[in-house]
Amino acid sequence: MIKINENFLNLQESYLFSTVAKKVSEFSLKNPDKKIIKLGIGDVTRPIVPAVIEAMHKAVEEMSTKENFKGYGPEQGYEFLRKKIVEDYQKRGIDLKIDEIFVSDGAKCDCGNIVDIFDINNKIAITDPVYPVYLDTNVMSGRSGKYNENTGKYENIVYIPATAENNFIPELPKERVDVIYLCFPNNPTGTTLSKKELKKWVEYAKENKAIILFDSAYEAFISEEDVPHSIYEIEGAKEVAIEFRSFSKTAGFTGVRCAYTVVPKDVCGYTSNGEEISLNKLWNRRQCTKFNGVSYIVQKGAEAVYTEEGQKQIKENIAYYMENAKIIREGLKKAGYTVFGGKNAPYIWLKVPEGLTSWEFFDKLLKEVYVVGTPGVGFGPSGEGYFRLTAFGTKESTVEAMERIQKLKI
Ligand SMILES: *Cc1c(COP(=O)(O)O)cnc(C)c1O
Repeated sequence: MIKINENFLNLQESYLFSTVAKKVSEFSLKNPDKKIIKLGIGDVTRPIVPAVIEAMHKAVEEMSTKENFKGYGPEQGYEFLRKKIVEDYQKRGIDLKIDEIFVSDGAKCDCGNIVDIFDINNKIAITDPVYPVYLDTNVMSGRSGKYNENTGKYENIVYIPATAENNFIPELPKERVDVIYLCFPNNPTGTTLSKKELKKWVEYAKENKAIILFDSAYEAFISEEDVPHSIYEIEGAKEVAIEFRSFSKTAGFTGVRCAYTVVPKDVCGYTSNGEEISLNKLWNRRQCTKFNGVSYIVQKGAEAVYTEEGQKQIKENIAYYMENAKIIREGLKKAGYTVFGGKNAPYIWLKVPEGLTSWEFFDKLLKEVYVVGTPGVGFGPSGEGYFRLTAFGTKESTVEAMERIQKLKI
């Protein structure tokens, strides 16, 4: 009798996006004349920029010739791209080696796959609310313990709240943890940590021989000074942090697929005998065994992101989204809401009106002004009472959504 991995049964149904979709489609069936504006999506909408398209076209042509055809590439990514990534870090004073960069087909996969190299008994800490991938991949691998219906939490996971009460600055855990997931600028709250705040985490990791898994998928959206683009801007982080980055939000690659993970050679884990082992070696082995590299065409496209033209073009798209973010922030404030984020990230996190839950506010917004967002509680128990709007829509629909929300009676 074939047995299954029962950890999968320990996963909570992700009701979030399916429930959102169901509620929206029910509403639009009953009200076909109402124009719904969706500000719930976490996907980009601007097309891939010309510099990238041109580079990919060229790469496609190369594939058609005997001389330039490419088969399997290096599992870690082509050197031409890894070199550009290293140079990009150098601009911020961060020194990395090419073999510390691992190109992949997504930061989501990398964040999920990284659990392969860690012991099953490690104590995991996540911030709350959180990007669900960090939590669910630890549930699947059997690190979470049982789910508690009353608290909305898994027994063995350490949840670190980030709410308005602590200004979205998660406190260091009181108990010892081994693996800490941090995502800044944050999805879903759109908030950031200063260098000083991030430094505390690096010091905690050093003192506790813990590791930080740092997701900086939104670094390109940072506009303010003193907000670190990379955890390696913090002294000593190269000994305790793995960083995940992606071209998805930066350059509109959500459908093209390209990302990279940085595993510095100095980051170590330990055997049960206390022997130090370089995580770079383990991740390299993991990738070479289970992954066969990103398509040459895609990597050529990613390389073009670093050209002068490419940089100029992607920055225009980011500015477009951040203009939307500003429209949302200001529109909500005018309507009397308390808002967070939206300055260094394409997400705006708002406090729902007194007396309503995240889902009640969702229903009200949908039924009364036909605007769709994402209930905060879907990202974790500390997200209750909050709501996420994204800046990835068109400017026209963003402006209209704010006009409608201002008319909403609360
Ligand atoms: C969108 C997003 C990513 C990027 O994932 P890809 O697989 O590279 O598309 C990573 N982390 C967070 C928090 C995100 O929101």
